[in-house]
Amino acid sequence: MNDIRVRQVVLASRPHGKVQLSDFRLEEVVLPGPSPGELLLKTNYLSLDPYMRGRMDDRKSYAEATALGSVMPGESVTTVIESRNPNYSEGDVVTCFTGWSTHAISDGTKLRKVNSNGAPITTALGVLGMPGFTAYSGLKAIGRPAKGETVVVAAASGPVGSLVGQLAKIAGARAVGIAGGPEKCAYITNEFRFDEAVDHRAADFKSQLAKACPDGIDVYFENVGGAILQAVLPMLNQFARVPVCGLIAQYDRAAPPGAIDLAGAMRIIISKRLTLRGFINYDFADELYGEFQSEIAFGLAEGRIRYREDIVDGLENAPKALIDMLDGRNFGKALVRIER
Ligand code: NDP
Repeated sequence: MNDIRVRQVVLASRPHGKVQLSDFRLEEVVLPGPSPGELLLKTNYLSLDPYMRGRMDDRKSYAEATALGSVMPGESVTTVIESRNPNYSEGDVVTCFTGWSTHAISDGTKLRKVNSNGAPITTALGVLGMPGFTAYSGLKAIGRPAKGETVVVAAASGPVGSLVGQLAKIAGARAVGIAGGPEKCAYITNEFRFDEAVDHRAADFKSQLAKACPDGIDVYFENVGGAILQAVLPMLNQFARVPVCGLIAQYDRAAPPGAIDLAGAMRIIISKRLTLRGFINYDFADELYGEFQSEIAFGLAEGRIRYREDIVDGLENAPKALIDMLDGRNFGKALVRIER
């Protein structure tokens, strides 16, 4: 194939606090066709995930910061449009870390063939992909809810939180979801079948949470930090488990006024014998990935597991969609449709 024109979104500047549209730049580049052993991929759907905010900062973390002028990182569902690699054929659908780009050249490593057993290919980036595995592994390996216990999770309408609550219910626990606004709260109880939903934007959020958890909290699946963590900490029961998954409320903001400081939190950790463990989803890949894929695919096929997606059209709209997600304006797994 001849050279191919590719559109990409690059990091134009590092955000100070909230991400701005001016932190991104849309560019067009020309890629040579694939060399022997390589594949040319066309991006169908790009996944937008909260970790992308962290990569925009120049800070030491578990993953490298994105260099200024480089393509924004991201995983996509793609179609092979030219293959010079014997393991892949034209038309194969694979996930790939393409970054925010309409096309990518791959050497055939780190690809995953999409086999969603009849579910839409987008699920490979959500309930059957990285966010789904994050929920599954964090809850199974660290949260370990028992029958009758209370599990609380925030960002509960998103791909991680919604699966945490549904898996908690399947384990026989009570699921309490925290979300922003009445529409998301209604969806969590009606569609995801949580026992209770609490609106963190409501003026009486703390008392609503106390009412929803009359027996305290046994598992707090930590997705947001900030004011919600502050409300939850005093409500944790003895021997509660806290899988520390994400802190989206703190990615570009300071602690809320009057926050429990680290010393105060440590006192609670000792007196209640809490277990807090941070994790990155791939920590548990060897032991849990296989069972995750089959259990969730089966649950989806049977209708026991549900999911919701929020799809925006066009690579040029990815920056705004990321900003919207960080501010809670997505409603379900955030995806960008590049080409069907
Ligand atoms: P979501 O699709 O749920 O989107 C993020 C949501 O966070 C928003 O919709 C919003 O929901 C909520 N939110 C944003 N700001 C605040 C705030 N100040 N207070 C309360 N809620 C807020 O995201 P994901 O399901 O993809 O990810 C959820 C969490 O899991 C994130 O923290 C992410 O970083 C983490 N994560 C960690 C991984 C790991 O390996 N450790 C892997 C994947 C994700 P609402 O409107 O309901 O407030």
